[in-house]
Amino acid sequence: MTEGIELGPGAEFDLIRTMRLRLGPLAVGLGDDAAVLSAPRGEQVVLSVDAAIEGVHFRRDWLSLREIGYRAITAALSDLAAMAATPLGVLVALTLPGDDSGRDGSMAGELADGIGEAVKAASTVVIGGNVARGELLALNTTVVGSAFSPLRRSGARPGDFLYVTGALGAPATALRAFEKSEHPSQPVRARLAHPAARLAEARWLAARGAMAAIDISDGLAGDAKHLAAASSVDMEIQIERVPVFDGATKDDALSGGDEYELLVAARAPFSEDDFVERFSLPLTLVGRVVEGAGEVRFTHGGARVAPPPGYDHFTR
Ligand SMILES: [Mg+2]
Repeated sequence: MTEGIELGPGAEFDLIRTMRLRLGPLAVGLGDDAAVLSAPRGEQVVLSVDAAIEGVHFRRDWLSLREIGYRAITAALSDLAAMAATPLGVLVALTLPGDDSGRDGSMAGELADGIGEAVKAASTVVIGGNVARGELLALNTTVVGSAFSPLRRSGARPGDFLYVTGALGAPATALRAFEKSEHPSQPVRARLAHPAARLAEARWLAARGAMAAIDISDGLAGDAKHLAAASSVDMEIQIERVPVFDGATKDDALSGGDEYELLVAARAPFSEDDFVERFSLPLTLVGRVVEGAGEVRFTHGGARVAPPPGYDHFTR
């Protein structure tokens, strides 16, 4: 069932064997010195790397190992979504701490279950990786994809319509609850523990005229700033339009991170109804692109309002 060549003896290979077994057909070609890929003819290769480090990006008392594995890979895949790329494969470099205390005695195995769930959801596979010992648990994920015409941050122009996928704010709300030793509601927690990489959504939007995109990892306000800077334009966000996840606050929707939803600029409006019908996910017009030099303005009822709390962090 599992593809890949025979692995030699030793503790490191035992861990890789465990992970390969748990991944089953979701791991392809493991065991050689490097992975080999073919990109569809005429497409460009799109690559990104992302780190998930214990104590910085996650805590083991807040999320299960399976969730940590799932989330690390999904966060990395989200950058491929932001480029409207199709994943070709994922490479994971794991650092495992000495206390290999997974529920079944296998931290690597539980992480592999989450990694497998994430690649399966993205219709891709694990094509390589590495396992090392270290003080903290860490997953460094390299994602490889391809796109005929990658969607860049620099493509927004004055007059464009600005859309966001999904509803925002829940990950920040969940984190605040955890920090206060409270339990976030199940749907709010799930947005933190089990985000989705909007890969198919991004390709749908790109096929219908999206010209620039970014995935919301730093918060809507902060990532709008990145998009505005890359495109040398200003962005005007109507805060009353920003979709707020049930149980989250408007401020969290405006400036909370770890969303992995998309902020997209397009020359003409999308059919929001078609999007909802296809993906069972809202697509919301939140503002417009205007002439400028990389600033984000916030309005409410047509009047200029102060940036949301937390926004300054991203304006330095
Ligand atoms: Mg990104």
